Amino acid sequence: CGTSSLLPMTPKNPQQWLQVVGHAGSFHVGDYGTLLKRFCEGERQCYLKLMEDTLRPFVPAYYGVVQRDEQDYNMMDNLLTHFNTPAIMDCKMGSRTYQEEELLMAQERPQPRKDMYEKMVTVDPEAPTDQERAQQAVLKTRYMQWRETLSSTATLGFRIEGFRKANEECHTNFKRTKSREQVTEALGNFVESNTHIVWGYLRRLKQLRQELETSNFFKTHEVVGSSLLFVHDWNGRTGIWMIDFGKTVALPAPLTLDHRTPWVEGNREDGYLWGLDNLIDILANMLPL
Ligand code: ATP
Ligand code: MG
Ligand code: MG
Repeated sequence: CGTSSLLPMTPKNPQQWLQVVGHAGSFHVGDYGTLLKRFCEGERQCYLKLMEDTLRPFVPAYYGVVQRDEQDYNMMDNLLTHFNTPAIMDCKMGSRTYQEEELLMAQERPQPRKDMYEKMVTVDPEAPTDQERAQQAVLKTRYMQWRETLSSTATLGFRIEGFRKANEECHTNFKRTKSREQVTEALGNFVESNTHIVWGYLRRLKQLRQELETSNFFKTHEVVGSSLLFVHDWNGRTGIWMIDFGKTVALPAPLTLDHRTPWVEGNREDGYLWGLDNLIDILANMLPL
């Protein structure tokens, strides 16, 4: 959770940017309401295609690659620009947050990992099987799949990574926020039970769902580790955008995904739309009947 320096754009409209989660140090505030994110070729490819896709209104505008202090950056819109002291939330979408490719690589070299066993018992001493306990080690593939069951990723198809309300600290302690009730409570805290804000978010999410159902980009990509960035402020302005395409990969033609079919190894489904259905349902249930 980092805070950028305030770079004034015009005296009246100071350029503000706050980071909820993700790697600190990967970002710089650029000129004219832009944000620079540490370069990643896969992410550039996605943004180039997204600028030509019907999803364009739901992602930050992309301006290409720029260099700063010998480091390359992808340059995009800072989504906080038109908000006044915004509240921000990052929801990571999908029923798994590693690529099938990462799983294949872990399967090729199946070494028992003591470090992952240690991490596992620190979180949940009951998690290892008898055999894992005897070995004091777990396979990486097992660790990756176990980790997804801690949060709501495996059961709801999305998880709250973190949020920050106006003038407050970041809340990032959601790694074990798993049940529908726990997620509802966290979302209620973020929107401070403001039904106007919930309405705004719901409207936007339903528009997004409609576009996702027909988007050519979405059909032809495995979208993993990507987030929805929620932003609102005390003026009642709300916005939601798709961000973080560092792990989004094009599928080999003619394969396409519906993003709702449950994942089985090899089908590449990511559960993104299933998670969005659940998110919409949970928010709708926060409104008075
Ligand atoms: P990770 O892979 O760990 O999720 P990352 O380094 O790929 O993180 P992002 O997920 O792209 O980084 O972004 C991290 C945070 O930075 C987001 O949660 C959000 O708070 C902020 N952020 C990212 N992109 C934008 C943007 N275009 N406008 C405003 N804020 C942004
Ligand atoms: Mg991210
Ligand atoms: Mg990322």
